[in-house]
Amino acid sequence: MDLYEHQARELFAEHGIVVPQAEVTDSAEEAREIARGLGGRVVVKAQVKTGGRGKAGGVRLAADPAAAEAAARRILGMDIKGHTVRTVMLARPVDIAAEFYVSYVLDRAAGTFLAIASAEGGTEIEEVAADRPEAVARIPVDPTEGVTTAKAAQIAEAAGLPPRAVDVLVRLWNVLTREDAVLVEVNPLVRTPHGQIIALDGKVTLDDNARFRRERWGAQEVTHDDPLEAEAAAKGLNYVKLDGEVGVIGNGAGLVMATLDVVAACGARPADFLDIGGGASARTMADGLNVILSDPAVRSVLVNVFGGITACDTVADGIVRALDSVRLTKPLVVRLDGNNAARGRAVLDARAHPLIRQAATMDGAARQAADLALAANPL
Ligand code: GDP
Ligand code: MN
Repeated sequence: MDLYEHQARELFAEHGIVVPQAEVTDSAEEAREIARGLGGRVVVKAQVKTGGRGKAGGVRLAADPAAAEAAARRILGMDIKGHTVRTVMLARPVDIAAEFYVSYVLDRAAGTFLAIASAEGGTEIEEVAADRPEAVARIPVDPTEGVTTAKAAQIAEAAGLPPRAVDVLVRLWNVLTREDAVLVEVNPLVRTPHGQIIALDGKVTLDDNARFRRERWGAQEVTHDDPLEAEAAAKGLNYVKLDGEVGVIGNGAGLVMATLDVVAACGARPADFLDIGGGASARTMADGLNVILSDPAVRSVLVNVFGGITACDTVADGIVRALDSVRLTKPLVVRLDGNNAARGRAVLDARAHPLIRQAATMDGAARQAADLALAANPL
């Protein structure tokens, strides 16, 4: 889960990183009062979980409370890269002598963390990284050693950051590790004309499996880029959108992953990962089918269930009852095995839906589903 800038700012402050004084509101009138309290001159900043707010007009300097209200009015409701602005943060402006970039990110491929830092931070960092990669230092951080003062000094030296940034680099590492984040980024980290180092912006991505995240920020607002994933998440489904044409539903993450492999081995591509878990109620089945069938790329659906604690007849009942609320528009291949498989198959046979067919084995079911998906006209 990504945090909003104002939440990241809160975490930074708790770990002793200097941040501008600031407050959040969803009202332009209140923005005027907050600006007054902050001394009149403020920066008004859109709170959306995407970068590039400055370039999109979502960061504005206001000279006085009236200007802050006007700026908040312009920014609230604005669309920034598909994110609607619901709240703004008003911050006491900081005088900038230099802008730096610093981040720590989990490098899954390398099995380590990476410190990325540059003396040329600010809104153009992506261009800097693309045009002059040598201006951006990338230094692996061994997770068992972490960022000690010596390591931080090495990062600062490599990136050309001032010695005073060393302490911030150590504290930022503490944010990453103690708050269970997989990414922390400060852009810009600024040096003021007095030499003070201040985090002017912040991005934090928390590990969705972290207890801390659930306790402090709740289960809401896990971000989904894909609209089908967002819809599935809202229904409590374990669904991941993929690029293929065979919809896949199964019970148990391991079985579903194996199903994706078998579909691929048959020359087709899975359209999704959907684990309906142990419950497999009619509601879950209907929700799952609805999400999968609304993916225009799907040409056939494969239901692969191995009955354990969940009996196959319960799953078959779920499919049949789901048909009350779902209009089946694509062929469904069902493989039921394990606990009460015979009864489950009988339930589906009795329903005799023209678009539902059954297969005895997982390979056979995947073969049928793949052939149906790859046929010129599967219906
Ligand atoms: P982003 O565009 O979403 O990354 O938003 P930022 O919070 O990074 O703000 C964009 C740019 O606005 C920064 O790089 C700064 O140049 C400028 N900016 C933001 N806050 C201040 C401030 O307090 N003082 C000054 N002088 N510039 C600011
Ligand atoms: Mn920024």
